Amino acid sequence: MTCVLLMAQNPHTDTPQQGEGLGAFLLRNGYNVSKYKDEFIKLNANHFGKDYGLLLGVKYIFPNKVDQVEEPLLGEANKMVTVVDDLLYGATYYLISGHGGPDPGAIAKVNGNELHEDEYAYDVVMRLAKCLLSHSAKVHIIIQDPNDGIRDDAYLSNDDHETCNGAAIPLDQNERLQQRCDAVNNFYKTERTGYCRTVIVHLDSRTESTRIDVFAYYFTKSKMGQRLG
Ligand SMILES: [Zn+2]
Repeated sequence: MTCVLLMAQNPHTDTPQQGEGLGAFLLRNGYNVSKYKDEFIKLNANHFGKDYGLLLGVKYIFPNKVDQVEEPLLGEANKMVTVVDDLLYGATYYLISGHGGPDPGAIAKVNGNELHEDEYAYDVVMRLAKCLLSHSAKVHIIIQDPNDGIRDDAYLSNDDHETCNGAAIPLDQNERLQQRCDAVNNFYKTERTGYCRTVIVHLDSRTESTRIDVFAYYFTKSKMGQRLG
């Protein structure tokens, strides 16, 4: 799934202060250096000294800031996400909602409604994706259902046509888990940039006598996984 970047109009301009470097100039103007440096250099080609030193008296043009990103999987009402800051710029998240396709996960009956874990895990992942995108993270939604974006219904309806990045989800548990691992690894192979994390969401059932709070599993011996959890 691709995200379309939308740019605002009317470029911002400014002249550098005495002794101000490129990074400091971008920061002073409210621009994330790693996110906007290349575009700034391209926009102002031939107006730099040695090693992209700024020239006094030059009015530099700033790139239009990314103020919205589009993620159609979030659903019609939520697909345009407002970018609030660049806190997670450079970070990549692979989001997997548990179960899906022919496997509904845990099933509960509430007020005559049959509730399926996969639909709720998917909704949590949609909301997490929206939050991460609003902070400029790159997000891959691995388990996808183009019909279900963020849903505010009291009870979420069930279906079984979720895919793993477009591919049908097999019923066999090992094949199913391997398929989503492969999907993440295939993205990671081509990206490998900075901070990359996979988050898998389950809302498993417990008996009423063993009620537990939110908890996280991580790969044994993984210090980074432990820290994330
Ligand atoms: Zn589960």
